[in-house]
Amino acid sequence: LGGSISRAIQQMSNATIIDEKALNDCLNEITRALLQADVQFKLVRDMQTNIKKIVNLDDLAAGHNKRKIIQQAIFNELCKMLDPGKPSFTPKKGKPSVVMFVGLQGSGKTTTCTKYAYYHQKKGWKPALVCADTFRAGAFDQLKQNATKAKIPFYGSYTESDPVKIAVDGVDRFKKENCDLIIVDTSGRHKQEAALFEEMRQVSEATKPDLVIFVMDSSIGQAAFDQAQAFKQSVAVGAVIVTKMDGHAKGGGALSAVAATKSPVIFIGTGEHMDEFEVFDVKPFVSRLLGMGDWSGFMDKIHEVVPMDQQPELLQKLSEGNFTLRIMYEQFQNLLKMGPIGQVFSMLPGFSAELMPKELDSSNPKLMNESRMMRIARGSGRHVREVMEMLEEYKRLAKIWSKMKGLKIPKKGEMSAL
Ligand code: GDP
Ligand code: MG
Repeated sequence: LGGSISRAIQQMSNATIIDEKALNDCLNEITRALLQADVQFKLVRDMQTNIKKIVNLDDLAAGHNKRKIIQQAIFNELCKMLDPGKPSFTPKKGKPSVVMFVGLQGSGKTTTCTKYAYYHQKKGWKPALVCADTFRAGAFDQLKQNATKAKIPFYGSYTESDPVKIAVDGVDRFKKENCDLIIVDTSGRHKQEAALFEEMRQVSEATKPDLVIFVMDSSIGQAAFDQAQAFKQSVAVGAVIVTKMDGHAKGGGALSAVAATKSPVIFIGTGEHMDEFEVFDVKPFVSRLLGMGDWSGFMDKIHEVVPMDQQPELLQKLSEGNFTLRIMYEQFQNLLKMGPIGQVFSMLPGFSAELMPKELDSSNPKLMNESRMMRIARGSGRHVREVMEMLEEYKRLAKIWSKMKGLKIPKKGEMSAL
């Protein structure tokens, strides 16, 4: 995918005269890539039509960088397709809001409910979880387990079979307890599909949610539009969350979900853990859709914090898949120089700048046994827990870098348009 886009753009950059044919060739390549990324056929066609309207080659004065204009137009058009034009309802801290989650079974609702609650809890909210899924065996236990882990109050029942009653009781209870974010998890399956949508309608009518969030698995492919539309027809979907963005899927279905629900994507799920959850950011998402990864953001960061003379060496090491603790250490030192310190430390739980240098070249921190960690902790005047957290951070980053292994690294300037 990435290859075909790069190739298409490469072809354009090689063409000395950019004519109608070159534009069509480029659009066709990108069309193919977007379809592969699960963007709905109709949406791709709309984009093509719009691009042709925007990029009127005859109007472009000679000497303009036409390639750049076309690239920028495609990028902007995709960004626009992810923007429904109005923001979603945003709950206010301290003011009770009810947020209902809908989506098919397996899409990641229960997991995402907890992530959403946890995200707000860390910011000082008082969230609570209500399990209104009485269809799936074990649904309440799953929510209970998640909620307990995050120390979030929860409500559900093993005996009551009416999801509407549970939802209403749970919402009432947490309103009395002055929770400001009451999250209702629902079922995603029924014996009959029509019954599921009727159940969603009833739960929504009874709990009067301030916001209904449609949860979509990034890998559902072309089914996204119909699925999102079906939910939208039974409840007032106001926002979308796309899950499993850590997998291979590019998440092109998100464009369909936005089109079908006329609602924005607000968060993405990037893993099974509670904190693998990010505020949706349209530009990196579109870059990824186009098969360009998050290079632009990543390269911006590198150019911003890594001294010029060290950049080629760092990128070389990363492309070889050599992400050692020393690299992390050196990069963090660069970050520290940049400040603000507080921001850096919030990114790096327990990071200790006095970490003993000889430990740093190990590219396998699994080899760090307990006594070694104790020694590092003593040597740096830190708690062992902090050393462990630092290693966790390393593993998290190493996971990201490992995906970059073997990738061609764009030179500065190559990412300028996309
Ligand atoms: P539900 O049926 O809609 O409630 O879906 P669940 O929350 O039970 O999730 C279904 C599966 O997807 C579980 O195994 C989750 O751990 C997994 N899952 C949910 N979100 C993500 C994500 O962002 N990334 C990954 N890798 N797995 C996820
Ligand atoms: Mg569930």
